[in-house]
Amino acid sequence: MTFDSIIGHDRQKNILLRAIERHRIAHAYLFSGPDGIGKRLMAVAFAKALLCQTGNGCGHCPACRKVDHSNHPDIHILDSNGAAIKIEQVRNLQRDLSLRPHEGERKICLIDGAEQFTTGAANALLKTLEEPQPGTLIILLSNRPDKLLTTIRSRCQNLPFSRLPKHVLATILAQKLELNETDATILAALSEGSFKKALGPNRELYLEKRRKLIQSLSALSSGSIIPTFSFADELETEKELLFDILDIFQAFYRDLLLLKYNSPTEELVNLDLMDLINSQVETTTITSLLGKLKALEAARYHLQRNVNRRLALEVMLMRVAAA
Ligand SMILES: [Zn+2]
Repeated sequence: MTFDSIIGHDRQKNILLRAIERHRIAHAYLFSGPDGIGKRLMAVAFAKALLCQTGNGCGHCPACRKVDHSNHPDIHILDSNGAAIKIEQVRNLQRDLSLRPHEGERKICLIDGAEQFTTGAANALLKTLEEPQPGTLIILLSNRPDKLLTTIRSRCQNLPFSRLPKHVLATILAQKLELNETDATILAALSEGSFKKALGPNRELYLEKRRKLIQSLSALSSGSIIPTFSFADELETEKELLFDILDIFQAFYRDLLLLKYNSPTEELVNLDLMDLINSQVETTTITSLLGKLKALEAARYHLQRNVNRRLALEVMLMRVAAA
């Protein structure tokens, strides 16, 4: 990953490139913003440019290659993977940073998921930030910067990242994945500016599976218990993608609501299901759509709190069908 291959985020890219050019690298940065939009790619490109033997993150020198293969001895990566970052992990990192760089002049530490620090770990890191060692750089990545100690935030140069606008993402996806305009727009809308989502396993979900799921959902009726239960069965097996499926259902009912309010078709997500959408708009009311959206929201709330998944899905589908 080099700066050139990063799509979008030009402002952030330019700030970092200027810092490199002027040899004015801060001791610590905080890259904040939603997951999957490219913060980590930017951090790696930045690290690479700083460690590169030709000084520009060429991608070919031994240092760049080591960064690409995640085995550069002067980069320490701490990945929370959604779990708490403990004080021992920060101590480890401090020990590592206190040693001289193995290859270049700099040691770089990347902490992904910085909102996951325990109090002890946060306080330990604060010490390092308060007494920065020359030649060390700490990059914190977080989707919830508000959860960090203010004292940590204030010692970092803050670089906020935002989602790419839908039309920009759609254009890029159309080129990268060779998709037609409709599919690219659907994928961009459902990925909410997240490349990780658009290019990962969700691509198939958003493009192919979505149509089937929406058809099954809109075929449910309050009198038909068996199809409702068998659809709940099917959804229950989609443990990993369940929240993304709820997003799909919500986007569908939002499309219907938008049409009810005479919004232009360009604002809709499910552009490939216009026949179904048009027929549903005819037969449904705004109150019913709001009821269905409420049922989806309630299910999301309960699923986030680890209630019985099967039960939550059954209740959700029955409420959607009855609304
Ligand atoms: Zn290089």
